[in-house]
Amino acid sequence: MAHVREAPTEDTVIVSHNPATGERIGEVNVFSGDDVERAVADARNAQKAWSALSFKERRRHLLRFRQVIVDRTDEICLRISQENGKTLQEALMCEVLPTVDLLTYFAKRAEKLLSPKKISLHLFKQRASYIHYAPRGVVGIISPWNFPFAIPMGEAIMALLAGNAVVLKPSEVTPLIALFAKELYLESGMPPDLFQVVTGRGQTGQALIESGIDMMFFTGSVRTGKRVAQECGARLIPCVTELGGKAPAIVCKDADLERTANALIWGGFANSGQVCASVERVYVPESIHDRLLEKVVQKTQSLRQGKPDSHNTDVGAICFERQLSVAEDLIGDAVEHGALIRTGGRRKEGDGMFFQPTVLEGVTQDMRIAHEEIFGPVLPFVKVKNIQEAIRHANDSHLGLIAYVFTQDRVKGRGLAEQIESGTVMVNDVLATYGMPETPWQGVKESGVGFVHTDDGLRNMCQSRHVHYDRLMSLKKEPWWYPYSESRFNLLKKFMNLLFLLYED
Ligand code: NDP
Repeated sequence: MAHVREAPTEDTVIVSHNPATGERIGEVNVFSGDDVERAVADARNAQKAWSALSFKERRRHLLRFRQVIVDRTDEICLRISQENGKTLQEALMCEVLPTVDLLTYFAKRAEKLLSPKKISLHLFKQRASYIHYAPRGVVGIISPWNFPFAIPMGEAIMALLAGNAVVLKPSEVTPLIALFAKELYLESGMPPDLFQVVTGRGQTGQALIESGIDMMFFTGSVRTGKRVAQECGARLIPCVTELGGKAPAIVCKDADLERTANALIWGGFANSGQVCASVERVYVPESIHDRLLEKVVQKTQSLRQGKPDSHNTDVGAICFERQLSVAEDLIGDAVEHGALIRTGGRRKEGDGMFFQPTVLEGVTQDMRIAHEEIFGPVLPFVKVKNIQEAIRHANDSHLGLIAYVFTQDRVKGRGLAEQIESGTVMVNDVLATYGMPETPWQGVKESGVGFVHTDDGLRNMCQSRHVHYDRLMSLKKEPWWYPYSESRFNLLKKFMNLLFLLYED
């Protein structure tokens, strides 16, 4: 299907804009339910031949794809920057580099990770069991606009290495990047139908769930995630949901304040704060509060905001208009209830969508901004009496994706980390673990169910199937088969008692 129609209407076409300039940069078709069904059917056909290839052959194909990505890095970064509004360095560091690294990591290990896994049996020593990993078939991916390359392509690469086909429904806000990724994929000589991109809005995502896919990876808001999980549940489609975040940063009195301040501004403002892992609330004890705040304010004021496709810009544009209003609303509410804007606080005048990097002082836990996801460049500071109060506040959230602890005492850092209800806690650092493919990316509470990345994440791209057999000659009959009798019952009971005697403390 062509991506551009001859007689476009608002319902059938999505126009994409550069958020930094407002300039129209392209348009794509909205895939109907029938279009999505056709794409899934084509992907399913292609998957048969793909899954029959050896790991070495699949790896060879994907390494060619890696080469194309590496060769065209500058262009990919520019296109990401133009449609998403992030800076070139962020496009490289947070989108292209982690994707290439993930591909390399799993390409090296897929064969070993997906080879049959023996289960040692503790009782039936004459028997054997093993798990073998069979591709699921067609993996569906629905992805958001904030990381339009790294999120879907990381998941797609893992799914493909495991022998699946992939159908991706990118966000309507950033569809061109997904289509460009498909272009690079085709250029590398990968089987054309194996990876499909179906552009559209929510209805296209819904159609993808209804199309008979075998697994769903959804990344997006809690509200849509619940709906997607429900729809998948009704069809018993395994579904991984990666949803919102409200990352707390807890700063201990013994923290290195210079490193902490640098980490907070990067964690709060990278990608203009439009990261599910962005620092969204900072809990600081009174004794160091003012010193840290001053440092953060001063460093924030030195950031250069502007054209994202320039190498000299630190903070780029806001990708999605709605996020400007969310930030304004939450800041307005906080100020009304006593918070103080120390720097920033509003949209930038002029062309494009920009929100000034903002630091708020005097935020309290009962304000909306301490609970609702901002998804913009705003660092709210909350003064606490002690670290236990900070932990209580950190856990006082319906979200639990990632959290941060700052201290120079490593043992204390790990102890505090373990008290936080969060899928990941980083000590003295922010954001970075998404780029480490061997670590899990996962939420607890309403931040999602399941995980991506890790060796188990690759296995999860497959059905794990169990095979069990007798290594010796099978008996004509097992002792627990028919016929039942009292003597057999007593024999089995004796066996059970003996067994548990052996395991007595
Ligand atoms: P949305 O939930 O609005 O959208 C996510 C995707 O779902 C988009 O492709 C969207 O399409 C699609 N969609 C919308 N409605 C439906 C539907 N009824 N059925 C199927 N698909 C549908 O999230 P955003 O794109 O606004 O992303 C921001 C959110 O994502 C934030 O909350 C952020 O925290 C979270 N996020 C979580 C991450 C994680 O790893 N935990 C990582 C990155 C972001 P369309 O855009 O066309 O409406």
